[in-house]
Amino acid sequence: MKRPQVLLVNPWVHDFAAYDLWARPLGLLVIASRLRRLGWEPRFVDCLDADHSVMDAAKARPHSHGRFVKTPIQKPAPLYGVPRTFSRYGADPAVIEKDLLSISRPDAILVTSIMTYWYPGVAETIRLLRKVFEGVPLLLGGIYASLLPHHALAHCGPDEVIVGPGESMLPHALYRHTGFASTSLEDEAMFEFSAALDLMRRVKFLPLITSRGCPLSCAYCASRKIFPYFVKREVSAVIGEIQAVRSRYGISDIALYDDAFLIDPPGHALPILEAAAVGLSGMRWHTPNGLHASAISPKVASAMKRAGFETIRIGVESVSDEFHNRTGGKTDRLSFLSAVTNLLDAGFSREQIGAYLLVGLPGQSRGQIEDDVDLVLKAGAFPKLAEYSPIPGTLMWYEAVGSSPYPIETEPLFHNCTLLTAAEPGVDSKFLQGVRTRISEYVMLTELQHIGK
Ligand code: SF4
Repeated sequence: MKRPQVLLVNPWVHDFAAYDLWARPLGLLVIASRLRRLGWEPRFVDCLDADHSVMDAAKARPHSHGRFVKTPIQKPAPLYGVPRTFSRYGADPAVIEKDLLSISRPDAILVTSIMTYWYPGVAETIRLLRKVFEGVPLLLGGIYASLLPHHALAHCGPDEVIVGPGESMLPHALYRHTGFASTSLEDEAMFEFSAALDLMRRVKFLPLITSRGCPLSCAYCASRKIFPYFVKREVSAVIGEIQAVRSRYGISDIALYDDAFLIDPPGHALPILEAAAVGLSGMRWHTPNGLHASAISPKVASAMKRAGFETIRIGVESVSDEFHNRTGGKTDRLSFLSAVTNLLDAGFSREQIGAYLLVGLPGQSRGQIEDDVDLVLKAGAFPKLAEYSPIPGTLMWYEAVGSSPYPIETEPLFHNCTLLTAAEPGVDSKFLQGVRTRISEYVMLTELQHIGK
C-alpha cells in the first residue's frame, strides 16, 4: 500500500540579523524520523538550507557555520522606526516555489517555528505552501507556535497549531486532517531522539541530542514550557548513532543540542564522554546551546578534552550570585570560576571557552554588564554577549512587560533581541558595541603578552 506523504518545512527567517551557529532544524527532522516509523513518507524543504545549489555565499563557507544568504525586504509596520536593514534569510521564494513544484502533492504539511518575532517568515512560508498545495492540511508546530498558539493561528493561517512536543500529538492531528491512521508503536519509547538526516541535502556535521528538556526552571528560559519532561537516551544509543552517521556521511563534527547535557554527569554525560574517548577518536564536539558551569569538575573537563570537545559554550548568563538566586540558581560565581579553571587545566584555550552573558535584562545596569564581562575575562574565558529576548510564559516575562516601552504583550515583533526591548536606559546597541570592542582589545592584548613571554 502507498504510504501517505507528509511534507516538513523549515521556514524563512525575517530579522535584522541571523547567524547560522551549527543550526539545523533538528526538531523537525526528529519528527520526520518518528513519522517515517509510523508509516508516513516524509519529504523535507528547508528555506534556510545552506547547502542548496543557489546558496553561493553559503557554499563558500570554510566551516559548517556562518552567515545565511539574505535579501533585504520591507520592514513590518511596527518596526518602521528601527534604523536597521530588515532581511529575509534563506533562499529566494522563486527557488523554494520551484523546489515545491518538483515534489508530488503531499497528504499533509508540517511547518516548524522558532523565535516568536520570526512569525512573519513563517506566515510568508505558509502563504507560499498554500499557493502551491492548495487544500492540503497544514499544521504548525515548534517554539513560537507552542508559546503563542492563538497568535500563530490568527497570523500564520495553519489549519491547526500543535502545542508542545510534536511526536505525541501529531499522529492524532494527522489522522483528524487526513484520515490516515498511523501504525502502532506501543512498544516504543514515548519520545524520539534520532533525526532523519537523510532528508537533508548534505550532512556536514551531526546535530545530536542525548537528552531532551531540562529539570531546572530558570526565570528567563522557556525550556520547561516547550518540553516539560527531562528524558535521557541510553549511552549505547548515542554512541551507536554517532558511529553510524560518521560511517555513512564521513563527518567529523558534532553539534550538541541538549539543554541539560551536564545536569547529572555520572548518570549521563560522563559515560557518554568516556565511551566517545575510546570509540570515537577524531570527532570534534561543539556546544552551541551552552553547558552547565556547576557540573564542570576536573573529571568532567578532562573527559570533555579526551572526547574531543572543540567549541565550548558555558551558559552562565551572569556571574552575579544575586542574579542566580533570583532566577533559579542554576550556577553561581564560584562554580563558574572553577569550571573555567578546570577547563583551562584540562588543556582548553580561552578561545575555546565562551561564556554566554545575558545583556539587556530588566533592571540590569551598565555596571553589572561590565562587571560580568570583567570577571569572565579575568577568569580566562571569552564573554559572548547574548541580547535578552523576552519569552512569553516565563517568570521574567512579567518583569519585561513592566520595563519595556514597547507593547510586547500584543506584538511579538517587539520581542526581537536587537531592540533590547526590556533593557534599562543606557544599555543600548552603542554601549554594547563598546563592550564588545573592549573584549576584543583585552583578548588581543593578553595574547600579545602571552606571545611576548
Ligand atoms: S538550566 Fe538552562 S535549559 Fe535549564 S531552565 Fe535554566 S537556562 Fe533553561
